[in-house]
Amino acid sequence: MSTATQHKIIDGDGHVMEDIATIWKYMPEEYVGKSFSDARGRSPFPPIDHLHTANRHFTPKGAFANVGREGWEVFLEEVGIGTTVLYTSAGLAFGKIVSRDWAIELARAYNNWIYDTYLSKSSRFKAMGLIPLQEPAEAVIELRRIVRDLGFCGAMLPSMGANMPHLGSEKYWPIYGEAERLGCAIAIHGGAHENLLMDDLTPYAPVNALGHPMGQMICFAGIVFNGIFDKFPGLRLGFMEAGSAWLLTCMERFTGSWESHVQYDPRGRFLQLRKGEKIIDYILRHIDEGRIFVGCEGEELTISEAVRIAGNKPFVFSTDYPHEVDAETCKHELEELRENSELSTDDKEAILFRNSQRFYQLTLWGHFEEKGDDT
Ligand SMILES: [Zn+2]
Repeated sequence: MSTATQHKIIDGDGHVMEDIATIWKYMPEEYVGKSFSDARGRSPFPPIDHLHTANRHFTPKGAFANVGREGWEVFLEEVGIGTTVLYTSAGLAFGKIVSRDWAIELARAYNNWIYDTYLSKSSRFKAMGLIPLQEPAEAVIELRRIVRDLGFCGAMLPSMGANMPHLGSEKYWPIYGEAERLGCAIAIHGGAHENLLMDDLTPYAPVNALGHPMGQMICFAGIVFNGIFDKFPGLRLGFMEAGSAWLLTCMERFTGSWESHVQYDPRGRFLQLRKGEKIIDYILRHIDEGRIFVGCEGEELTISEAVRIAGNKPFVFSTDYPHEVDAETCKHELEELRENSELSTDDKEAILFRNSQRFYQLTLWGHFEEKGDDT
């Protein structure tokens, strides 16, 4: 395979390991060193959850290494990926910040740091920023700033947080409205896994296995049933790092339950089905119209079935680098996807780059460089 073809791959969900000492320098002087947290060198981010801590388990060699920009560039070249869309790691706990002032300042500091460190240095790096969802009016201002002024693809919302209402709540409508106006992406990403009936579950592996899809299914339920796709028809939402199978569960279960538990809805608050439409049709319609995207890896048991049922338009190839993976495992994931005889060439191209292009509004890296145009 030629280099040009390989570079067609877009990584729809990579991660930065935060350089905490440097991010502090972007925070106002009054905050520096004032957090009572001792984690990660007095991190400005809250601890992710009690399930990750005080528990010994082994992850692959090099996992969660702070590879920095240079390490990321080596990884992209080695695996043959053109562009990556970077998400936070420590900020997956961002929803737990209860000081609104702190949330506003930390979002701004993180976004400025990732812009200076990655985005401004190479057009191969794109980013989904942090926004202070604790105070939606401020989140709107920060979303506008990072998209318009800094060229971010959009922002991430954590799937879990402290006293966070479900993501269909009116609290978040200003954020969805602004994302629609800006034409940017909003992605939901898990990582904090408490309050999901697993608070005393060991070993850790099933917490990781279930935490991501459970969080996404609950977020998806709030969004679908509260009619977010009806109210904000230009909004594009992504559901990352939980695989593809949960989407099928939602399609099946949501459809049956909505028919057996008919909601009295005198004020038209909930989703609006078209005549004769079932929930599965409603979800498929919004997938087809480019509003629902789902992160996936290359080697997933259900990916072919997911494409058969949901079509190839939602699924976005994601590396998750440098979390539990390295270049070798990512190359293996890509091989598995390329060799999957149940997927067509069209399916594979959709998953590897076309869906990311539509979700994040990206041009392919090679084309992008030739034109010298970063808009
Ligand atoms: Zn991720």
